[in-house]
Amino acid sequence: ILILTYCEKYLLKSKDYEQTYKLAVTDGLTQLYNHRYFQEQLINNTNNFNRYNILFSLILIDIDFFKKFNDTYGHQSGDCVLKQVANILKKNSRTSDIVCRYGGEEMAIILTNTAKPEAVITAQKICSAVRNNKFTLANNEKVNVTISVGVSTVGLNGKKPQEIIEFADKCLYKAKENGRNQVVSEID
Ligand code: GH3
Ligand code: MG
Ligand code: MG
Repeated sequence: ILILTYCEKYLLKSKDYEQTYKLAVTDGLTQLYNHRYFQEQLINNTNNFNRYNILFSLILIDIDFFKKFNDTYGHQSGDCVLKQVANILKKNSRTSDIVCRYGGEEMAIILTNTAKPEAVITAQKICSAVRNNKFTLANNEKVNVTISVGVSTVGLNGKKPQEIIEFADKCLYKAKENGRNQVVSEID
């Protein structure tokens, strides 16, 4: 009995720890990983590449004209859309991918063990899934939303976390410039 009580206490404690940890790494609105966890994982994955040559790619996602969206449909519907986009990202990525809210209406996915061509295919899959989805507003009305996407791969586009983000960000900028609602994975 004493041992059982002890085990029970231990289990309860570890469950408590798990919950606290989950809260610390999760974004409250979207339930994706938060920015802090993203930074941590980006550094870990970059170290793994530099030490063991384990590849990864980064997908950066930004919702198109979201300021206008909020102005038109209201901030609450904006929040609904953020949650739905997050679900589409999760649905279209592997369990080994790290799907994060990068900030505001920007999201990021770290694709472990993934080279450029495969990452671009995933990015395109996500971009069209959002394009083809009917998003539900707070008042149950349905609307369309699009995203712009940038893709970078460790080694090919940089060896430091900052370089990898910068490349994906430049691609994203180019996707916006080219008319939004598209994936860009190269810059000139
Ligand atoms: P672009 O196509 O160039 O990305 O235009 P944009 O309007 O999406 O870009 P901008 O960066 O100017 O605006 C981002 C907007 O996203 C501003 C802000 O109102 C909205 N936003 C950021 N975080 C949230 C959030 O948590 N909830 C809601 N509803 N809106 C948010
Ligand atoms: Mg933005
Ligand atoms: Mg935007």
